[in-house]
Order: sequence, then structure tokens, then C-alpha cells
Amino acid sequence: MIAEQIKSAIRDIPDFPKPGIIFKDITPILKAPQLCSNIVDAFVEQLKGIRVDAIAGIESRGFLFGLTLATKLGVPFIPVRKAGKLPFTIKQKAYKLEYGTAVIELHTDAFEPGKHILIHDDLLATGGTALAASELIKEMGGEIAGFSFVVGLGFLNGKERLQPVSENLIVLAD
Ligand code: 5GP
Repeated sequence: MIAEQIKSAIRDIPDFPKPGIIFKDITPILKAPQLCSNIVDAFVEQLKGIRVDAIAGIESRGFLFGLTLATKLGVPFIPVRKAGKLPFTIKQKAYKLEYGTAVIELHTDAFEPGKHILIHDDLLATGGTALAASELIKEMGGEIAGFSFVVGLGFLNGKERLQPVSENLIVLAD
């Protein structure tokens, strides 16, 4: 039910941000407060029984439901940002994109070692970004509580890349 609600709200934008890409635009979801509330409730439901000490949301759309979910669960929110955006001392991780590389960063005091961190983003494509975030968090002494996404592009096999890291893999609309 939640999957259908999400799928009917998101829209496909052809040739964005470059020719040949069909971009899943989630902004219509944000205009529907009841759907936003249902999404957070669905995450809370699927996270029952899983230890989550903090939520790491990936810039920038991972901040939207990431912070809301963290607030609902009563745990800290940690922004995972692109290079050069975080003001305090940072740890970073470079990872491969289809063409070239990208860098994500975390504040060195983002969490205490041993904490169980849930990685959250709006959309799971290849899984490369979430995987890099999980590696950075592990290098900093964190445990991976799991992953959560609003939407998944099943044909890109992101789930297969993330499953070895944590079996707690939530994709509301796949
Ligand atoms: P991945 O690393 O899994 O290949 O790509 C996922 C990342 O790229 C996420 O941070 C996500 O926000 C962004 N992304 C890639 N394609 C899309 C898309 O079609 N729609 C949206 N909303 N985000 C996308």
C-alpha cells in the first residue's frame, strides 16, 4: 500500500540531469503531508526490533526523511555531506561513480564508536553512495544498523551490493 502511494506520487523526468537518464523526482511526495507521515510510520514499523542509535542521512534528499525519522525515533541525525561542506574536522571517503569519483564526508565527532548507525537516503540506485557511507562509518568505529530508502531502482542491483553489509535493508517502493 505505501509502495503504491509512493510510486503514484513520484514522477519520471526524462533526460535529467543528462541525456539518457530518467530521473525519479520525489518532490511531489513532499507536497503530500499525509504521505510523508505514512512514509515515516512505515520506516518506524519496519525498524521495530532493530537497534538504531543514530541516523546518517545522505546529502541532500537523505536529509528530508532522515531527520524526520530520527526525530520520531528520538535518536541523533548525522548529515553525510559532499566534499567541502562540513565546517568542523572531517573524515572522508572517495568512491567510484559511473564516470569519475565522488567524495563524502562526516564530522569526526558525528557519533561515538560502537554506535549502531542506520544509513538513509531517498533513492537506492547502484548502492555506491550508501556503500561508501557504510565504509566510512565502519572506519570511524560505527556499526551498520541497516539501510533505509524511500525508492529503489531494482534493475540496478543496489540491494545485492548492500545486503552483505547489513541484512536490514528497507526499500519502501521497489
Ligand atoms: P547510487 O549511489 O545508489 O547509485 O545513487 C543514489 C544516489 O543518487 C542517492 O543519493 C540519490 O539521491 C541519487 N539519485 C540517483 N538517481 C536518482 C533519481 O533518479 N532520483 C533521485 N531522487 N535521486 C537519485
